[in-house]
Amino acid sequence: MTPRTRIPRTGRDPAPLLAEMASFRDHDVRYQEGRSWSLVYYVGEAHEDVLRQAQALYISANALNPMAFRSLKQMETEVVQMTAEMLHGPPSCVGTMTCGGTESLLLAVKAYRDRARRRRPWIRRPNIVAPATIHVAFDKAAHYFGVNLRLVPVGLDGQVDPRAMARRVNRNTILLAASAPQYANGAVDPIPEIGALAERRGLPLHVDACFGGFIQPWLERLGVSMPQFDFRVPGVTSVSADVHKYGYAAKGASVVLYRDMAYLKHQFFVATRWSGGIYASPGVLGARPGGPIAGAWASLMAMGEDGFVAKAREAWDAAEKLRAGIREIPQLRLLGQPHSTIVTYGVEERAVDLYAVADQLQERGWGVDRQQRPPSIHCTVNAANLPVVDRYLADLRAAVAHVEAHPELATEGEAAMYGMMAKVPVRGLVGRRVLEVMEQMYGPEGEMPDLAASGAEQGGPVVRAVLDWGDRAISAAKRVGHRVRHPFEEP
Ligand SMILES: *Cc1c(COP(=O)(O)O)cnc(C)c1O
Repeated sequence: MTPRTRIPRTGRDPAPLLAEMASFRDHDVRYQEGRSWSLVYYVGEAHEDVLRQAQALYISANALNPMAFRSLKQMETEVVQMTAEMLHGPPSCVGTMTCGGTESLLLAVKAYRDRARRRRPWIRRPNIVAPATIHVAFDKAAHYFGVNLRLVPVGLDGQVDPRAMARRVNRNTILLAASAPQYANGAVDPIPEIGALAERRGLPLHVDACFGGFIQPWLERLGVSMPQFDFRVPGVTSVSADVHKYGYAAKGASVVLYRDMAYLKHQFFVATRWSGGIYASPGVLGARPGGPIAGAWASLMAMGEDGFVAKAREAWDAAEKLRAGIREIPQLRLLGQPHSTIVTYGVEERAVDLYAVADQLQERGWGVDRQQRPPSIHCTVNAANLPVVDRYLADLRAAVAHVEAHPELATEGEAAMYGMMAKVPVRGLVGRRVLEVMEQMYGPEGEMPDLAASGAEQGGPVVRAVLDWGDRAISAAKRVGHRVRHPFEEP
């Protein structure tokens, strides 16, 4: 066992310390060069510098007490107002800043659950009806707050049938939810139809625009066609939008908006019994960092509408160029809809193993976001990617050709593990294996797993058998005319 790290007996000199830290990043994904196709929304050093300085002003501030830090409350109010204005919120529109999309969604689910408890107290097992591609934060919220998720299948084109959603609504339904766009494949759900359903059934509707909130409005202005998704749609009662995505703020900033206070009030928490005093809090956190609020305010102000539109145009051009290049690779197919700056591709049936292609891209220095159901690669496209699209496409063509010539790569490297995880029919087994990996990562030594070894360590024959079994089960099902489940469907 390596000895446990401890606080040094005497403090270290800041200069060499910080120099050493800068080198810590050498093995992280190189987002500054457009090598990452997810996680980071980078618009250059000049903007990062604005964020750094804005956040530095508030590095020690605590937004927990808005009376003590009135300036932070004022900036939060203005970020909420700017977001409401951009998303066509009515004059009554209200909301709060949160530390991220997940917190925004957790809070929305909590608010609607508590609203239902007040208005329909007889409901014992409340549920939310949403397309199967709804963000996993809803699973987390359902898990935390004791709500069921009723998911509706979505086709390879990313489209949900609103009538199928209507059929999943029952008397315990407390909320409808949909995405603008879905993270997995970039399609904006048919929000107008789902809004009409919400109105018909007297249900609230949350639109998860965590991804799209700060880019769809500008894409719309550039003429990109997509379903209407914001407060203009009757029936939409709340929208979440992440400032730390296309708002180009530093991480830790999102906004959750409601049509009026009748919804937002159910998000709040008040306790009066504590010896530490009367305690009121709008969100999940207690102490709230001031930096992300200041950074979000500075980002919106520094970008301006013209800045956002310019970056949206570059990101859109990069996405379109990427889509065009992928269309020309016969083994690959685009999934979803071109409603946004997400490009997702899978493979034509039995063409090549996609996870092996992913390994090849990774070896060529690209950040790769692997998805399942169906196996696919997700690219969140940013302006920073525009200069490297051609290089990416060249590497992608080479990767596909290489895997075609070496099909055995499907059972090696990380492809073995991802392939197996995708094909093991018992999801409980997969879940247990992932928990074991987490226990290792968060164990006393904080050991990182070797994903490439973890496929192989199951024993080559086992990996092969599972991959084989999965393929055979699928073709057997097709032979007997069994409808093979749609790829984005729940099991
Ligand atoms: C990113 C994202 C979320 C979750 O946001 P985090 O900031 O990662 O917590 C939710 N929904 C969609 C569609 C997203 O893209």
